[in-house]
Amino acid sequence: MEKLSNPQVTIEILKKYNFAFQKRYGQNFLIDGHVIEKIIRAADITKDDVVLEIGPGIGTMTQYLAEAAGYVYAVEIDKNLLPILEETLAEYDNVNVINEDILKLDIHELIRDDKRTLKVVANLPYYITTPIIMGLFENDVPAESVTVMVQKEVAARMQALPGSKDYGALSLAVQYYAEPYIVAHVPPNCFMPRPNVASSVIRLTRWDKPPVEVDDEKLMFKLIRASFNQRRKTLQNSINNSQELNISKSEVTDALNKMSLSENIRGETLSLEQFARLSDLLKK
Ligand code: SAM
Repeated sequence: MEKLSNPQVTIEILKKYNFAFQKRYGQNFLIDGHVIEKIIRAADITKDDVVLEIGPGIGTMTQYLAEAAGYVYAVEIDKNLLPILEETLAEYDNVNVINEDILKLDIHELIRDDKRTLKVVANLPYYITTPIIMGLFENDVPAESVTVMVQKEVAARMQALPGSKDYGALSLAVQYYAEPYIVAHVPPNCFMPRPNVASSVIRLTRWDKPPVEVDDEKLMFKLIRASFNQRRKTLQNSINNSQELNISKSEVTDALNKMSLSENIRGETLSLEQFARLSDLLKK
């Protein structure tokens, strides 16, 4: 069939199945072939790869992925989309559509016997962008890269460096696991229906091992969360105020002195490396 990236083909198929968009699932379907080609290029998909697509929708990007990749697992939560996907992907024998919630699916189990390189590609449902991406990283899903469409502001936060206004817990969490690279900005008119925010495509290339060494990852992330929960406070106050931690102000002062940092410093100026060092110093 003709590709769904042609808006007319998308309109026809939606009409044929009398499909009703579900807002709660973040359904904004791509209707621009150039954007999809850019995503596939950035993800560097070859026939030696297996792709995990999160939320195929009516299969618009899946059609391109099936042509580029060796195999595609497409995980879609909305069962109303299944009959549509059956038709739009009928000509591809290398696609497996799975009707599941990506946040509940055991991805390790899904790809267990597959020795090919795994790449994640998605136009993500924006309401769960962070849990999906952090879930992939924290559960050690063996994906070489994660190339995704996200809200423009979220992409900026993922790529932000210390001191910038977008820098925060998400920047540090993402950058601990992967190297971010914003590939393109995508305006609302490339989707149906149009979202009321601008979007960006970001590629996150997984590090072989994290760029910093830290004794207790969990403690470091608690410190990071505490620092950015109370952005306007000094680091020693935000850490001291955190319910999650039991660390006194003077312990933080000592650690900051050892790192030759000012006692009045705020978390938003600390690099990942400095948070790792601070975490090692505060470990009891
Ligand atoms: N890939 C399609 C495209 O680009 O046209 C659709 C993208 S749309 C932004 C997000 C898709 O994710 C929707 O099809 C939605 O139903 C699906 N989705 C939402 N929550 C999900 C979840 N928890 N697990 C799996 N899929 C989900």
